[in-house]
Amino acid sequence: MTGESTEATRPSGAETLGFQTEVKQLLHLMIHSLYSNKEIFLRELISNASDACDKLRFEAVSDPSLYEDESELAIQIDFDAEAGTITISDNGIGMSRQEVIEHLGTIAKSGTSEFLSRLSGDQRKDSSLIGQFGVGFYSSFIVADRVELLTRRAGLSTADGVHWESTGEGEFTIEPAEKAGRGTTVILHLRADDQEFADPYRLRNLIRRYSDHIGFPVRMLEQQFAPPAAEDGEEPAELPEPGYETVNAARALWTRPRTDIKDDEYIEFYKHISHDFQDPLSWSHNKVEGKREYTSLLYLPAKAPFDLYNREAPKGLKLYVQRVFIMDEADQFLPLFLRFVRGVVDSNDLSLNVSRELLQQDAHVEAIRSALTKRVLDMISKLANDEDPEKYQAFWNEFGTVMKEGPAEDSVNKDKIAGLLRFASTHTGEATQNVSLADYIGRMQEGQDKIYYITADNHNAAKASPHLEVFRKKGIEVLLLSDAIDEWVTAHLQEFDGKAFVDVGRGQLDLSEIGAADETSTDELNEANKALIERIAGVLGDAVKVVRATNRLTESPACLVVDEFDMGKQMRKVLEASGQKLPESKPILEINPTHALVEKLAAEQDEARFADLANVLFDQAALAEGQQPRDPGLFVQRLNKLLIDLST
Ligand code: ADP
Repeated sequence: MTGESTEATRPSGAETLGFQTEVKQLLHLMIHSLYSNKEIFLRELISNASDACDKLRFEAVSDPSLYEDESELAIQIDFDAEAGTITISDNGIGMSRQEVIEHLGTIAKSGTSEFLSRLSGDQRKDSSLIGQFGVGFYSSFIVADRVELLTRRAGLSTADGVHWESTGEGEFTIEPAEKAGRGTTVILHLRADDQEFADPYRLRNLIRRYSDHIGFPVRMLEQQFAPPAAEDGEEPAELPEPGYETVNAARALWTRPRTDIKDDEYIEFYKHISHDFQDPLSWSHNKVEGKREYTSLLYLPAKAPFDLYNREAPKGLKLYVQRVFIMDEADQFLPLFLRFVRGVVDSNDLSLNVSRELLQQDAHVEAIRSALTKRVLDMISKLANDEDPEKYQAFWNEFGTVMKEGPAEDSVNKDKIAGLLRFASTHTGEATQNVSLADYIGRMQEGQDKIYYITADNHNAAKASPHLEVFRKKGIEVLLLSDAIDEWVTAHLQEFDGKAFVDVGRGQLDLSEIGAADETSTDELNEANKALIERIAGVLGDAVKVVRATNRLTESPACLVVDEFDMGKQMRKVLEASGQKLPESKPILEINPTHALVEKLAAEQDEARFADLANVLFDQAALAEGQQPRDPGLFVQRLNKLLIDLST
């Protein structure tokens, strides 16, 4: 009988296991979308090898025995043109059997499956979308129809090596193997069409192009040239055994002076740390010396990742301490609203033993965080002031809703963030958010000292709202806010450049100081229409807080207003969706006494018909705001009754 428990810890034979569904989907999509980008497999594998060396160096800080007898970390690339193979080896951390199964059989990112299955036909061919994934190791299968991997985790015995193999079609085989040196060796058996990669010039070229910035040497066999022709009677000169030589610069990019680094190198480095396939929008590289010493290299990506709003999505910077990699996703160095920023921070002041918990309380971290936040905001401001406005627009379209979390999260930088915000507005009428608060203020009317905005569920409802009528008449611009977070933004900002934010659908509206003072005051209107107002209030009863007359309407008979201190509609929705029970708040009904329908209502003698009309007036005011009538069926009945009356 085979002891099951020992089998579980160290199985002796080969085992065939299935890939997780997501991996199968990814492999399939990748092979079909990245065919024009094949060469990236080398970058991805070297990137993994470099990460593995980083991790070893980190673990060896507390356990130097992990170095065994080899403390120089390096990556080696070999090829065999005849056999059609490329081999990528590293002496990094390696993997245990369990790690191989977890890392090379599954994808840990949550939401992956939905994302992959949501991609439409065209998107499936779009390499940038698939690239959001950091296809990493799996990109081997773009050029290889069989991949072998031999690995041993540092610290385990030479008998604890693992051999993994797959043709990338749904399954992989895993078995124990002897491995003398620690680390990982990946052998790619190239597809018939991709034999071209097993070539020294091609490989050297790719290493220099994509992996020059890696902080470890990437080595290849020295190139040899044909021996000089033998002279008569002499044996041809023997060539010495070729040694390995370093092909890349082998110096971590951020440690080099800015002036020495080409844009292409910055771009490749971004791809290495972010696993993004697209070029970044911009970057900022800074070395700080003095009381605190650290270097940061921060990037703005061009595209938002699919899981930007997923709480568990990776965020934060790669942290190094004195060049030693400490951790990925160190999220203490930037506020949440800048979670899309990628990059590296390398501090000379932190301890090599720093943990996530310790980072949270460290004064250095706090100081670096506030400096990096300012750097990122400066980088974004620079983009906003770029002569090409499309650049900033592209940034805003991707990350604007996240930036809107800024004023609430970061009160210190509130004004700076406010200057970066963009909104849709009645000035353009477009759904694109492209109006800054400074633009708005620059277009304010004589006598106007407030920033007016309207909120609604969507852009069209905001744009069509009856509340805008008087603003249109007076030529006053109104910001059209339809993101769920917008009320949150205005609540936290309260003002910009001394101008208060005012919701045009809330409270009493006083525009008497702006434009021609030709309208009757609301007090006078209320007085003149007292009887009608009381009659309507009597019919609507509990459904409304107050009924009153208004001069804010020019074309519509009525509108709904939120009372001064009641919660706004968007905020209410967000809070209710998060499960909070909120006290009921009733709308105020404002009527336009000059509208024919309201005049007709005032003249109506038949009480039943008056009630129908008043109810329809109230429900259609809700409809005009993009809301539901209280009882849609009853609303239609009443409306039909009035229509029939009209035609008889
Ligand atoms: P990513 O690098 O984005 O995490 P990959 O699919 O490339 O995704 O790799 C998955 C995981 O497999 C890595 O996070 C790492 O833990 C492990 N891995 C890959 N290559 C190596 C390697 N050369 N040495 C050690 N571990 C590796």
